[in-house]
Amino acid sequence: MIVIGVLNLQGAVSEHYGITKKAIKNLNINAEVKSVRYADEVAECDGIIISGGESTVIGKIITRRGIDKTIKEKKIPVFGTCAGMVLLAKKTNFDQELLGIMDIEVIRNSYGRQVDSFEKKIKFLDRDFFGVFIRAPSLKDYDESKKDIEILSEFNNEIIAIKQGCNIAISFHPELTDDTFIHEYFIKEVLKCVE
Ligand code: GLN
Repeated sequence: MIVIGVLNLQGAVSEHYGITKKAIKNLNINAEVKSVRYADEVAECDGIIISGGESTVIGKIITRRGIDKTIKEKKIPVFGTCAGMVLLAKKTNFDQELLGIMDIEVIRNSYGRQVDSFEKKIKFLDRDFFGVFIRAPSLKDYDESKKDIEILSEFNNEIIAIKQGCNIAISFHPELTDDTFIHEYFIKEVLKCVE
């Protein structure tokens, strides 16, 4: 049995919880989704989802609670959306506390303010997907020397989804759609990573 934890600190947590539950059902595997708030709960998980929200707030809490240390020590795969992507990055254009486990650099709020949010048909791998962008970050750079980095999606010449090893960073919000494809993809990656 694998456990997928949705980090329940701030942001679009319940949406991720619901869609992950659906994804597990679709995959018909022995897995469970849990809402997690503290390092000891995170330590019990095989994969962690970090939602959109306010990366500065989530970053402060994860360092204060030692969640960052637990994830790094146990090498728990992380799937981050929007603010979650910011937290996965090694560097941003802002002075903030980060998880920093992916060799990527992002720019926060890169497409403008809340009113500049938009929805667009995109491709995730070869699959059509509906991209919901809300004060989304953009990927400024990634370490091309790292062989474990894979680009999963691009839009308007920007990388909007990227994977490094078992970690996945996505600038948009798949949890705000009914489409479980990307969550299923992450769960399958977790299965591979815990093997
Ligand atoms: N702009 C937010 C941040 O950098 C992310 C926005 C979101 O997650 N919808 O924290």
